[in-house]
Amino acid sequence: MLPSAPAHAFSLPGAVAGKRIIILGAGLAGMTAAYELTKLGYSCTVLEARDRIGGRCWSVRKGSTQQEVSNPTQTSQLDDGLYFNAGPSRIPHHHQLTLHYCRELGVPIEIYNNVNEGAYHFSEGNGALSNKKIRIREVHNDMRGYVTEMLAKAIDQHALDVSMSTEDVSKIIEYLRAEGGLDADKLYKASARRGYVEAPGAGDKPGKIADPHTLADLLQSGLLAPDFYNVAEYTYELQMTMFQAKGGMDNIAKALEKKLPGIIKTQAVVSSIQNVENGVKVKYAVKGVAQELTADACICTLPLPVLSNIDHNFSSDVSRAVDFVPYIQTGKIGLQFKRRFWEEDENIFGGITHTNNDLTQIFYPSNDYLGKKGVLIGYYNFNDKAKKVGALTLKEREQLALEKGSLIHPQYKNEFETSFSVSWHLTPYSLGGWALYTGDTRQSLYKAFAKPDRQVYFAGEHTTYLNAWMAGAFESARKTVADVHARFTEQRLQYPSSGKSGG
Ligand SMILES: Cc1cc2nc3c(=O)[nH]c(=O)nc-3n(C[C@H](O)[C@H](O)[C@H](O)COP(=O)(O)OP(=O)(O)OC[C@H]3O[C@@H](n4cnc5c(N)ncnc54)[C@H](O)[C@@H]3O)c2cc1C
Repeated sequence: MLPSAPAHAFSLPGAVAGKRIIILGAGLAGMTAAYELTKLGYSCTVLEARDRIGGRCWSVRKGSTQQEVSNPTQTSQLDDGLYFNAGPSRIPHHHQLTLHYCRELGVPIEIYNNVNEGAYHFSEGNGALSNKKIRIREVHNDMRGYVTEMLAKAIDQHALDVSMSTEDVSKIIEYLRAEGGLDADKLYKASARRGYVEAPGAGDKPGKIADPHTLADLLQSGLLAPDFYNVAEYTYELQMTMFQAKGGMDNIAKALEKKLPGIIKTQAVVSSIQNVENGVKVKYAVKGVAQELTADACICTLPLPVLSNIDHNFSSDVSRAVDFVPYIQTGKIGLQFKRRFWEEDENIFGGITHTNNDLTQIFYPSNDYLGKKGVLIGYYNFNDKAKKVGALTLKEREQLALEKGSLIHPQYKNEFETSFSVSWHLTPYSLGGWALYTGDTRQSLYKAFAKPDRQVYFAGEHTTYLNAWMAGAFESARKTVADVHARFTEQRLQYPSSGKSGG
């Protein structure tokens, strides 16, 4: 019966009539720009190359299709009602604009369980702990214990190069004991934190805690190697609480589309963007038929590897940035299983298993717990691993995911039903996962997108410090809308940023 919390809509002063804006791309940035500009009275047309909206914000469901540059068309055979997020799958709790648009557009969200101590670390190699699935809680708590024990000993032996008062020493020792689960002698012995080999129960079942792994075994195992040991879960963006849109992340894109009736032209492939006197001319083709559109201004949200192949008359600074900002290679595979064995047999509810092989990660679904079937993300990899796996045929990708995944979950063999894989760097109209900047390229290239190139404005995750996040698309759309509106109302508007950069 309670009304939902109010959304804090973007409100800029002044309405404008009769100004035409062409927006290139119906991803989240393009559609958000169109949505906000339409509210202000602008007449918008969004040109979208694909036959669907959403761009990278895409959930694969029954009947979804995908054709990569070097593979035959795939048609998803997932069961009705099942899905996986080929692009974005998680929303940080501090991405205020992403959550704002979910609220304003009425998209229900649910908790995305990004951190699960009950999932596994799996390292291929020669150590005593290699080629075995080890619960993350065992690795985390044993290492926490050993490291805090070492530090406590070093402090006791005055072996640290810091001067501390006796009071500070006693406080830090208390902290280390609590943090590492050390005993009264400041030694690490296994505790319930790392889990049980026999679970506690009723009557005479107190539960049995396993011995800790030895430090030498942990060190040898490869489980701590920097390219494997995943600290990402501690990073700002990946800390809990995280969310997902119920029923698939592209419900956010679909909700935006509903707000833009008659404004989006799909299957409209842009081939040329030209600044002309007092306006912009865009050439595009619909099913091969050439068309042209002029407007007072344009907002270009096309991913840079795509834009780089499009005819334009941008300044040399912009042109250089378009051509030289690299994008990450990344891929995912969705695997449908007839039984949720990770829940039924292994008590894994959401979260991520990390591997050092080509899979890199297995994501367990954070929805429909205790349901019958489910879809795992069988790999989610990056850079060289994504390049190698992306170069395989669709069947070979599936075989790799099943073969490597079976090392961790032997149930794969009996329970697997169907797969669907996406290599973003091989996907037309994306050609990459997201923009990759370094400190240097932020200075030399990134800045070119901060201001318009005459009548052409730039938006999209690549024009923000929120690369790889939907929040980048939303933040950039708002900034660009404020800039466009300032131009036509001749006002100096301050873009009211939500103030969260996420790095
Ligand atoms: C694998 C993966 C995982 C991710 N995970 C997360 C996550 O967990 N959480 C999160 O918040 N974000 C995540 N992201 C990032 C998020 O998806 C993006 O930042 C966001 O969707 C980008 O939106 P955009 O509008 O800037 O670009 P896009 O979505 O790429 O939109 C650009 C649009 O332009 C269209 N286009 C391209 N060429 C042409 C042309 N020639 N003519 C006309 N139209 C054209 C495209 O079809 C597309 O619709 C992930 C992305 C990927 C790839």
